[in-house]
Amino acid sequence: MSSKANRKRRCEIRPPGMELEPQTGHDAGTRPAAFRILVITDQVRQFEKIERLCRQWPTIDARLTWESDAKEAASIIAQRRYDVALVDDCGTINAVDVLQRSTGEGSPSIVVFAEHDSARGEIVLEAGATDWVTAPELSPQLLERVIHYAFDRERVLNLLRSSQERARHRASHDALTGLPNRATFLDRIEAVLARSRVEPSYHFCVLVVDLDRFKVINESLGHQNGDRLIVEAARRLKRALSSLDTLARLGGDEFGVLMDSAHDLRAAEGMAAALQAQCSDPFLVDTHSLHVSTSIGISFVESSAVNPEEVLLNADTAMYGAKSRGGSCYTVFGEEMRSQAMRLFDLETELRLAVENEEFEVFYQPIYDVASGDLNGAEALVRWRHPRHGVVSPAEFIPLAEETGLIVEIGQQVLHQACRQAAQWNLERRNGPPLSISVNISPVQFHKGVVMRDVLAALASSGLSPHALRIEITESLLMQEISAAVRVLRELGARGIAVDLDDFGTGYSSLSYLADLPVSRLKIDRAFVSAITEGSGRAKIAQAIISLAHSLDLEVTAEGVENEEQLAVLQVLGCQHVQGFLFSRPVPAEDFSALWRSRACA
Ligand code: C2E
Ligand code: CA
Ligand code: CA
Repeated sequence: MSSKANRKRRCEIRPPGMELEPQTGHDAGTRPAAFRILVITDQVRQFEKIERLCRQWPTIDARLTWESDAKEAASIIAQRRYDVALVDDCGTINAVDVLQRSTGEGSPSIVVFAEHDSARGEIVLEAGATDWVTAPELSPQLLERVIHYAFDRERVLNLLRSSQERARHRASHDALTGLPNRATFLDRIEAVLARSRVEPSYHFCVLVVDLDRFKVINESLGHQNGDRLIVEAARRLKRALSSLDTLARLGGDEFGVLMDSAHDLRAAEGMAAALQAQCSDPFLVDTHSLHVSTSIGISFVESSAVNPEEVLLNADTAMYGAKSRGGSCYTVFGEEMRSQAMRLFDLETELRLAVENEEFEVFYQPIYDVASGDLNGAEALVRWRHPRHGVVSPAEFIPLAEETGLIVEIGQQVLHQACRQAAQWNLERRNGPPLSISVNISPVQFHKGVVMRDVLAALASSGLSPHALRIEITESLLMQEISAAVRVLRELGARGIAVDLDDFGTGYSSLSYLADLPVSRLKIDRAFVSAITEGSGRAKIAQAIISLAHSLDLEVTAEGVENEEQLAVLQVLGCQHVQGFLFSRPVPAEDFSALWRSRACA
C-alpha cells in the first residue's frame, strides 16, 4: 500500500465546494467499497491530517470531501449523501450548531474535539452525533474504528426503519392488492374534510364499488380465482382515477374511491360511469371468461359537518341501493336511503326467522300448451308471508337470501312444498296429461352442492314422479361453473328430471354450450316477449331464439305473455308453451286447484 497510485486510489479527495453527485445510500447489509466521508472543517491542516490517517487504512478506501461552510455542511448532512460526516469542533465551526441545523436525521456524524471534554461530548450526542473523539488521540486505527462503528450503527438503524416502515405499510394497506385499506381510506377522507372546512368551495366525493355476485364466483371458482379477480378489478378501477384520487380496498369485493376534487355531482357520476366502463370487458380468470358488473354508491360531500365514517356509510348505503335495483348501476346517496338501509338490515334478521318459522308460501303460475290449449304445467314461485308486511315478492328477498346463503333452506322448503302439491294435483286427475311442476334453482344451491340431495329428498317424501318435475336454471350458472353444473344437470336428466334454461337471452354466455347441455327447454325472457308487439329489434331476437331452439331440438316457453297479440305472434313463430298475466298471475295453491280442475286455456 505504499505505491503512490495505490494511495491515490485509496483516498480520493474533493476540495471545499466540490460536492459529490447526489446519490442514494449503500444497500443496507453490505459494506461499501469505499467510505464516502464528509470532512467539515475550516482548517486545512486538520483536513490534511484526516486525509493522511485515512490513507493508512489497511483494508478500506475513503472518498473524502471537504466542506468548510457550516451552514452548507448541515444541509449536506441532512441530505444523507455521505456514509459518515466528521465534524471538526476545534476551529471556528460549532459542531452543535451544525448538528442542530441538520435536523438530526442525516448522515451519522462524528465530532472531533480539540481536547477531551465529556460534558460537551454529552451535548453533541444529545444534538444527534453518533460519536465523538479528540484530535490528539486520532490514529488510523481509531478513526477507522469509529467510522465503522458509525456506519454499522446507521445500517442497523436503517434496517429497523425499513422494517418499521414495512410494518406500517402492512397495517395501512391491503395485502392482496397493495391498496390502502379501510382505516387509511378513512384517514384520507378526514384529510379532505379538513381541507373543505377551511376552503368552503372545495367539494369531494366518495364512491363505494362492489362487484356483483362476487360471492357466487368466489364459491364456484375457488378463493384463489376469487383473489385473482379482485386483483384484476383493482388494477382496472385504478385506471379510471387521476393521480390525486385514492382507490382503497374496503374488504371482500368492496372498493372505495376518494375523488379528490369533484366540483359537482356530474363529475361524481362521470367517475362512476368510468369505473363501470373499466369492468365492462370480460375478466379472464384461469380459463374462465367472467362478466362482472359493479354496483356503485356515490356520496357527494358538500358539507364539512360530517365525519369520515358517515361519508363512507352514506356511499355504502347508496351502493346497497344500487344492489337492490338489481346491480350493474350506480345510485347517489339521499337521506331517504338511510331508512331503506335500515329496512334491509332488518330484512336479513327477519329472513333468518322466516326460514325457521317456515313463512314461505309457494304460488303457482299456469303454463299452457299452445297447440292444444291444455294447462299442463305450473311454475312454482315463492312468496314470503311476512307477519307485518304481508306478501313480500321474491325480487325483494332472493338476492339477499343468495348473499347470505339462506337460499339453500328456502330452496329446500320450496322444493318440498311444490313437489307435495304437484303430487296431490296429479292424484286428483289421473286421466289426461300429468301436470309438471317447474321449480327455480339458484346458482348458489348448485355451488353448495345440495341440489341432487334436496331434489331427491323432495321427490321421495312427496312421491312425485321425477318426470313431473322440471328444474329452471339461469344462464349465469353456466357462465360461472360449467363442468360441475353440467355434471349435476346430467344426473338430473338421467333420473328423468327435465331442465329448462330460464331468462334466456339476458345473459352474456356463449351459445356454443347449448348443443351439449342436458337442457330440454328455453324460456324466452319477458323483455323479448313484450318487445314483440313494440316492433323493436328485440322482436327479431325473440324470433331468432325460437328458431335457434328448434334447430337444436329444444322446446320454447314464452314467459310474460300479456296480450292476445303477443300470443298470436308466438303461435305463428312456433313457440310451444306460454305463461303470463294474459292467462293468470301466480296464485296460491287453492286458486290454482280451481284452474287445474277447469283444465282449459284462457
Ligand atoms: P322468473 O323465474 O323469471 O319468474 C317469472 C317472473 O315473472 C315471476 O315473478 C312472475 O310473477 C313474473 N311474471 C309472469 N308472467 C308475467 C307477466 O305476464 N307480466 C309480468 N310483468 N310479469 C310476469 P316473481 O314471482 O316476482 O319472481 C321473480 C323472480 O324471483 C323469478 O323470476 C325467479 O328468478 C325468482 N324466484 C321466484 N321464486 C323462486 C324460488 O323458489 N327460488 C329461486 N331461486 N328463485 C325464485
Ligand atoms: Ca323461472
Ligand atoms: Ca324467467
